[in-house]
Amino acid sequence: KNIVIVGGVAGGATAAARLRRLNEHDSITMFERGEHISFANCGLPYYIGGTIASRDKLLLQSPKGMKDRFGIDVKVRTEVTAIDRAGKKVRVKQLDTGEEAEYPYDVLILSPGAKPIVPEIPGLSEAEAVFTLRNIPDTDRIHAWINEHKPNHAAIIGGGFIGVEMAETLRHRGLEVTMVERNEQVLGPLDPEMAKPVERHMRLKGVDLVLGASVVAIEDRGKTLRLSSGQVLRTDMLLLAIGVTPESGLAREAGLELGVRGAIRVNERLQTSDPSIYAVGDAIEVKDRTLGFETVVPLAWGANRQGRLVADVIQGRKASYSGAYGTAIVKAFDLTAAVTGVNEKTLNKLGVPYEAIHIHPASHAGYYPGAAPLSLKLLFDKASGAIYGAQAVGQDGADKRIDVISTAMRGGMTAAELADLELAYAPPYSSAKDPVNMAGYVAS
Ligand code: FAD
Repeated sequence: KNIVIVGGVAGGATAAARLRRLNEHDSITMFERGEHISFANCGLPYYIGGTIASRDKLLLQSPKGMKDRFGIDVKVRTEVTAIDRAGKKVRVKQLDTGEEAEYPYDVLILSPGAKPIVPEIPGLSEAEAVFTLRNIPDTDRIHAWINEHKPNHAAIIGGGFIGVEMAETLRHRGLEVTMVERNEQVLGPLDPEMAKPVERHMRLKGVDLVLGASVVAIEDRGKTLRLSSGQVLRTDMLLLAIGVTPESGLAREAGLELGVRGAIRVNERLQTSDPSIYAVGDAIEVKDRTLGFETVVPLAWGANRQGRLVADVIQGRKASYSGAYGTAIVKAFDLTAAVTGVNEKTLNKLGVPYEAIHIHPASHAGYYPGAAPLSLKLLFDKASGAIYGAQAVGQDGADKRIDVISTAMRGGMTAAELADLELAYAPPYSSAKDPVNMAGYVAS
């Protein structure tokens, strides 16, 4: 078979490597518009902040490595500009030379990702120091600009995961930071009361947090921001972190079916409305595993899992992708916030009856030094006990509690059965009754 892949980072590179492991003979060609393949998107904020000192550490694989190790042809700086479905070929453009060519395919995999949303704000196009963060060139730009201009102040628009990570990063670099978030809370996947400790902590760490306000005008070539609250903000640089939108333009032009938020619609075999074309990663619509509605989950687990599964499907293995809980985690200075499943806001919006419990245990045995309070919220159906979701915020141990509950959800356990989980315990790590067990006791 002749397999062509669009996008060479999380989903694309994973699919390519797995395809080769399953079949030595197929021709595999991967096109990547950018200069780099297989880079660590998730590490970018930590490189800008200096926690990851070496830029090379972000580059996980090179085109030469893919060729030598896997026999995969990688064409970087090469954009796929059109799909000819009837003729089963893609049109590509080499971005440095402008040269165009056509490549035939038997099977096409799309993993084009999602791009940062750029809002329409008057004055934005005249602003000088405006940044978004998606890839290595974006990272280099931010890094170089800060080094050269030594700004005193940064404004971050958007209090989502990347915004919160960048607030910490920029504070690390010694900048004053103002975060402007349109909603009344940061970190939308959390419920408001769970976001509160994060907001308090960010303020404690010197982030000027403006909630419930948006930037309505940008003046002075980006140095002055006018907010909907009437507030006027002076800044040296502006980071837009208001979310991402699926890069589904190529699929749309090719007439492939799209779903929510313009994401590429796929079936359980990750096949688009054209059976020869598959799609994975941030660009696709997925099923919410908890309640079954269609949604997008632009996170790395899905891209990696789907990249592997799509290769299995293409090589004739029994494989299917059945949806996402949206399990996610973020470090906000010394706090960790983690979430799985749906939150209370979503349950209310959908009119789903639920029970919510909050517990505030210690991260490990209180008598052993270093125990920190943990806030854990569990949402479940009172009648059936089905777990809808959980959220955890604390300095320590939020990650494993959410991972355990996500695993319990995947295994179909009820809220009361969380009390039955036999979890590893010694005083430095937990309590004989782990916070997850306690949630189970409270729920039963
Ligand atoms: P990408 O990895 O974005 O790859 C898509 C590639 O396709 C791009 O390089 C693009 O240039 C290329 N492309 C698009 N169109 C074309 C075309 N027509 N021709 C050729 N090439 C094309 N997720 C987590 O779970 N945890 C985290 O902590 C986390 N942190 C993140 C931090 C940052 C700053 C960013 C930007 C993302 C983060 N993510 C995180 C999200 C995670 O990186 C994505 O979910 C994942 O990379 C998606 O994989 P993908 O293959 O769908 O898209």
